[in-house]
Amino acid sequence: MIQQKRGQGMIKIDCEKCVEQKSCCSFGAWVDLEEAKKILALGLKGDFFHFEEDDDFPSGYKVGTSREDESCTFLTSDGLCSIHKVDYNLKPTHCREFPYDNGELAHNVHLLCPAVKPKRKK
Ligand code: SF4
Repeated sequence: MIQQKRGQGMIKIDCEKCVEQKSCCSFGAWVDLEEAKKILALGLKGDFFHFEEDDDFPSGYKVGTSREDESCTFLTSDGLCSIHKVDYNLKPTHCREFPYDNGELAHNVHLLCPAVKPKRKK
């Protein structure tokens, strides 16, 4: 359950009731390098790509959980997150906070989250 700010009020987003649960995992996530090392130690199927410097991450480096334009490699065939299944605390911060990113709605939220997508005009 995620609280979403809308205007001055708050609405609840219940991710478990989402009809497109894996849509937010369509392009993977950026993960702090130190978080990634702990996830790799779990021995799950999945990997990290696109090592980059980024001062917005605590270690100064980030890695991505997907190859170019592919779903996250930690997404299982049942549409769930393999990291979440084993240890929620190791689920990437970005994924635990989505649809927020540093307290603000993520820039790509309208593409990835059906609960935030604008309604189509008829
Ligand atoms: S790490 Fe888990 S929650 Fe995050 S994008 Fe991958 S499958 Fe989805």
